[in-house]
Amino acid sequence: MVTFPDGKKFAFTIFDDTDVATLDYIRPIYALLDQLGLRTTKSVWPLAYPGSSEFEGSATLDDADYASYVRHLQERGFEIAFHGARMESSERPTIQKAFECYQHVLGSFPTVYAAHAHNRDNLYWGADRFHFRLWRWLYAAAAGGREHRGEGHRKESPYYWGDLAQQHLRYVRSFTYDELNLWRSTTAMPYRTADRPGVNAFFPSAFADNVEEFIELLSPARQTQLEQERGLAIVGTHFGKGFLRDGHVHPRVVELLTQLSYRPGWFKPVSTLLDYVSGMQGGVPLLEGYQLFRMEALWFWHSIRGRRKHRTYEATEVPYLRRGIAPRTARSD
Ligand SMILES: [Zn+2]
Repeated sequence: MVTFPDGKKFAFTIFDDTDVATLDYIRPIYALLDQLGLRTTKSVWPLAYPGSSEFEGSATLDDADYASYVRHLQERGFEIAFHGARMESSERPTIQKAFECYQHVLGSFPTVYAAHAHNRDNLYWGADRFHFRLWRWLYAAAAGGREHRGEGHRKESPYYWGDLAQQHLRYVRSFTYDELNLWRSTTAMPYRTADRPGVNAFFPSAFADNVEEFIELLSPARQTQLEQERGLAIVGTHFGKGFLRDGHVHPRVVELLTQLSYRPGWFKPVSTLLDYVSGMQGGVPLLEGYQLFRMEALWFWHSIRGRRKHRTYEATEVPYLRRGIAPRTARSD
């Protein structure tokens, strides 16, 4: 069993996918996390997208005020992650430019990454997320021909950036589960696989698409369970989706995060937690055979079961995006 520093009983962090986030919208949320002593991981898109996109209006590092705020978060101990180069697909030269932009603004290259929606440059995404033919087939069949394949790891593709990922990234998000304590789903975290030597380590995570799902995932009962099981939680979410009400953080979110902060948890960003856990385990274990098969099977089970738990939410971010259309409803987990 992994024990945490300073006698902490469990570990908890958040990976915030930057979809539909704007500076004014996320500022109160990060001010709350900062005040409560929770240090988490926020992802960014370095470059703006000039065409039309369902994510149009989302902030990127191209915006000087937003870039300076993201730098401020980094100085306050938050980790800044890579959510791909842009809100839409990008070919290699653009991805290279995005890495340069990230480094220029934040002083170093990103170490942690999560794929975004249906971008063609996603790394080991779509059916390529799976190692076993059975799961690839099942995934493609479930997508019914509308499958979007990530090609970021395919050398022959114009979207290839696998070498940059290998050079810079330490952690890549893989499967998401409907479970706060990830050790209930797998003990291999982080992990690597034999046929993807370019990825130093993958990590699974829980996922709450929007504020309503976040509220359910962080219920007091689940918090208690996490603490009692001395678990590890990494929650993927979109702080851009419904977390503000009348300009303030949703009162239930304030309540739940405050309760959580009073518990004896270790609240550090994703890379810090994963560095610590892999250090305690003596490295990043190789996952193969039955264990890997089971992990992929469990993803199907959780995504079928989790569908009943999908929640709609009040899209309070729309006025902040300065456009009249509702954000896309497609989920990116
Ligand atoms: Zn996304």
